[in-house]
Amino acid sequence: MTPMTPADIARIDREHIWHPYSSMTAPLPSYQITHAEGVHLQLADGRTLIDGMSSWWSVLHGYNHPTLNQAVRDQLDRFAHVMFGGLTHEPAARLVQTLVDITPEPLKKVFLSDSGSVSVEVAMKMAVQYWQAKQKPAKHRFLSLRNGYHGDTFGAMSVCDPVTGMHHLFNQVLMQQLFAEAPTCRFDEPCRPEHIADFRKLIENHAGELAAVILEPIVQGTGGMRFYSPQYLRQVRALCDQHDVLLIADEIATAFGRTGKLFACEWAGIAPDILCLGKTLTGGYLTLAATLCTEDVSDTICRGEAGVFMHGPTFMANPLACTVANTSIELLISNDWQSQIGRIEAGLRAGLAPARGKPYVADVRVLGAIGVVELNAPVDMATITPAFVAAGIWVRPFGKLVYIMPPYIISDAELATLCSAMLGVLDQCIGGG
Ligand SMILES: *Cc1c(COP(=O)(O)O)cnc(C)c1O
Repeated sequence: MTPMTPADIARIDREHIWHPYSSMTAPLPSYQITHAEGVHLQLADGRTLIDGMSSWWSVLHGYNHPTLNQAVRDQLDRFAHVMFGGLTHEPAARLVQTLVDITPEPLKKVFLSDSGSVSVEVAMKMAVQYWQAKQKPAKHRFLSLRNGYHGDTFGAMSVCDPVTGMHHLFNQVLMQQLFAEAPTCRFDEPCRPEHIADFRKLIENHAGELAAVILEPIVQGTGGMRFYSPQYLRQVRALCDQHDVLLIADEIATAFGRTGKLFACEWAGIAPDILCLGKTLTGGYLTLAATLCTEDVSDTICRGEAGVFMHGPTFMANPLACTVANTSIELLISNDWQSQIGRIEAGLRAGLAPARGKPYVADVRVLGAIGVVELNAPVDMATITPAFVAAGIWVRPFGKLVYIMPPYIISDAELATLCSAMLGVLDQCIGGG
């Protein structure tokens, strides 16, 4: 194969490639990556950027990690993939044993799939089959939180924030779910009765038709970058128990240390009935997701009419992905990740503090290895993206939210540079500085 020139790639990208949430008639240019190493992305023009996004939460140990690379190579020489119907293998067994060991106690059964959205579909189907098997078919709807994000397939989309998810475009095909006001009690605040009143009213009034509550524990990611009180989550768990509604925790973004706990549910000391993992599972190497459930959920489903759980992706439990997940989790746990996250949290607090009080800044918040600068108005992506790149950093805002969650291996100096460059760009593009 003859190599393509950067100009060839740019032309094909512009003419044929549909990027996430993008226009094909007025596309913004994409930056070509030729290499990535540690916390750095290298562009085709030779510049390198400090990565503030961890490729959408997923990269934990940095790019091109020798141990992760070797693990994939070793498995590649054994076999890349086999079907999972009737066959099994060590990479899957090792991963599932680890997940059962490190997640909250009652989660015992694991369904592997290929992306976060699919793991959410799987969780929702588990909840529906559960109530079918209990002869309560009316319990088939879901209650979620405004500002939530759970993925882009129809089921997952139906429980995303209805406004940012533009549900009105899909009215005719989307399942109609219930939405409680997003929690307003911040992470370090108590959850008072008024904070949970809307949620309480909805679950009380609709328990007879609710299969499950689905939420992102503690950190609402893409839909708002909001951190809420562990007491709120504890009360949600209690209300679900009281009203006989399952609880699905979507930890696709928060798992594996990002919030300062291995799983965000641990902040509240609760266990969900069903847990979704994705993004962070392979340390950003390959696409893989997992849906974990309790024995009560699995036993009930398997006593139902179908006798089985009705799902089975072709690339279920891909051995390359399971292997790199095993190696990534091993690296994480052997690396004193708590100190790593604590160090990043301190660096983000110090690095983002100068944004406080700027006239265009509405809020600055940090939890674990997540830093958010919320602005008063949405950014203009067409001007701010090139400015970030010119400043040597990769940051991709969403509306009013300018946020970073760097790979855990970022050094103190790189983190300080990332924060100061980001605030410099905001000053220049928005503050008129
Ligand atoms: C990204 C994300 C998803 C969807 O995962 P995909 O792999 O993009 O399908 C679901 N839930 C949360 C919380 C996410 O952050």
